[in-house]
Amino acid sequence: MSDIIQLLPDSVANQIAAGEVIQRPASVVKELVENALDAGASTIHVLVTDAGKTSIQVIDDGKGMSETDARLSFERHATSKIRKADDLFALTTMGFRGEALASIAAVAQIELKTRRPEDELGTQIYISDSKVDSQTPVAASPGTSFLVSNLFFNVPARRKFLKANSTELSNIITEFERIALVHPDVSFTLHSNDTELYNLPATILRQRILGLFGKKLNQQLLNVDVNTSLVQIHGYIAKPETARKKGAHQYFFVNGRFMKHPYFHRAVMDAYEKLIPTGEQISYFLYFDIDPSTIDVNIHPMKTEIKFENEQAIWQIVAAAVKESLGKFNAIPTIDFDTEDRPDIPMFSTDLPVTPPQTNYDTGFDPFKSAAGSGTSASSSSMGGSYSRPKATDEWESLYSGVEVAMGSKLNNPTFVDDEFEGFDSFETDGSIIGIEPQQETMVATFYGENQFQEKSGLHLQFKGRFILTSVKSGLMLIDQRRAHLRVLFDKYMAQITQREGIAQGVLFPDIFQVPAAKVPIFESIMGELNAVGFELTNLGGGSYAINGVPSELEGINSIDLLNQMLHSAIEKGSQIKEEIQEQIALSIAKASAINYGQTLTNEEMINLVDNLFACAAPNYTPDGKVVLATIKEEEIEKLFK
Ligand code: ADP
Ligand code: MG
Repeated sequence: MSDIIQLLPDSVANQIAAGEVIQRPASVVKELVENALDAGASTIHVLVTDAGKTSIQVIDDGKGMSETDARLSFERHATSKIRKADDLFALTTMGFRGEALASIAAVAQIELKTRRPEDELGTQIYISDSKVDSQTPVAASPGTSFLVSNLFFNVPARRKFLKANSTELSNIITEFERIALVHPDVSFTLHSNDTELYNLPATILRQRILGLFGKKLNQQLLNVDVNTSLVQIHGYIAKPETARKKGAHQYFFVNGRFMKHPYFHRAVMDAYEKLIPTGEQISYFLYFDIDPSTIDVNIHPMKTEIKFENEQAIWQIVAAAVKESLGKFNAIPTIDFDTEDRPDIPMFSTDLPVTPPQTNYDTGFDPFKSAAGSGTSASSSSMGGSYSRPKATDEWESLYSGVEVAMGSKLNNPTFVDDEFEGFDSFETDGSIIGIEPQQETMVATFYGENQFQEKSGLHLQFKGRFILTSVKSGLMLIDQRRAHLRVLFDKYMAQITQREGIAQGVLFPDIFQVPAAKVPIFESIMGELNAVGFELTNLGGGSYAINGVPSELEGINSIDLLNQMLHSAIEKGSQIKEEIQEQIALSIAKASAINYGQTLTNEEMINLVDNLFACAAPNYTPDGKVVLATIKEEEIEKLFK
């Protein structure tokens, strides 16, 4: 019987190994940029074509390579960064396995140009499918340029596996941002096809964060800086009032590398407990410096989750550090890590119970109380109701045209916010409605098309500023006033959007909407829908858009908040789903303009609202699936009096 084991040809072995390191264009960008940083570059340009599928170029002004090193750099386990096994554990450089270039060379075509500052001539190498095609001396600027073309050209299965350009580009941007956040002192540019997505000059950390995510953040960042014997943590956290459901920038770095750490994430979020509504997120940029021997050596270059030896103790330090910053911000005396009696946390023993560092943090502090009083728009948006009430009452009035609307002062009271109430379970048929003043009693018979509620009383009662009570054939109907109005407005806006007849209202002093570079392609893809409802946006370049016109219904509503929300739902749901975007827009505008709880309604207003509700195709539920109305059956009422 003949032997059946065969050695794989090198080229196949290389391709298999490459799969581990190089998964997508973003991995190439990461490896090349990290090499450039290791080479001491102070300026790094990244240029990608077709999200890196056609080409990826990284140009640096680092120390370059000699002719021999240039050739050797593509050999597997060729590295200038480790000499012996011990080095593995003390490693502070980026990549260290000497595998990245060999892997890229196995699955793409590479042109390398490099020159050391001290050499007169540089070296140019063409390599493809792990084979050197040519090596020649060349005139070149000091530093290194890698041009990687046609990634996975020789592994069709993997090339097919690549995602849409928008997804691959967004992965590249994510890697780029993570690296740029750790090296503010290095200047970076990122170009996609011919568009400049980022141009980041060398600067300090705070400016780098603003350069990446927008100047608006400047007002929002609080400094974090603690030193313990276990770990040093510095960076920034965002003020509680900036909390939102989506789109927060959350970054941990350890010893200069990005990491994911769900456990420490909880420590941060715990520190914000009671300061931000549940389910909302805040941005943070926290940098850990720690003895590398106390963390799990991140052998795998793709690995972003890192194990810490003293995880629980560090958890406490993270939470205390964040609380300290929040406390300082509120001018509440707290733990001070800089004084003599700072908690010097000793090496942690897992046998001992953990006692959190003591702080004088005021747990009773409620930013919403003070913030609401100051009347900032940020405060109202942090309360879950995303919009300030419209100045104009057009919608409400046009719905009840011809009817005098008594706009109660409660209308503008920010404590009346949508969806704070739960269902109808708590409704008690205990006779408490008797306290409500009955309106003039006129019985009207109204037809509601195919609707089941064909016969109702013209008498409507408003209960607790929320429910409209009316008698129908089968019993007593309760209608949630805000939800009913939401349904009515949503249907109206949907009709406008689908018929493309949204009317733009010119703006005298245009606001600027800033889109993070990474999100520009997605934002551009929903531009058509935004135009259709009446947004007029002018691209100013660099992700800035002037809001020259807003849908006429939106006058007085914070259009930047609204655009942000639209952008984030496009990111989540994918901009291809046009209908969902349209619905999202209609719902947002409806939510922003629907009447709130607490607003007193006259009988005629209630009649109008109910009539309009039953003219809708689906009056029973709001567009986002909440119950609009419920009926207490006559039999049930009768049972109560048995
Ligand atoms: P590693 O970074 O783990 O050493 P790589 O395969 O990424 O392995 O790179 C191999 C070697 O090529 C590096 O150790 C370094 O000496 C050299 N090298 C790669 N990129 C550059 C660059 N941009 N400038 C100078 N030298 C480089
Ligand atoms: Mg490397």
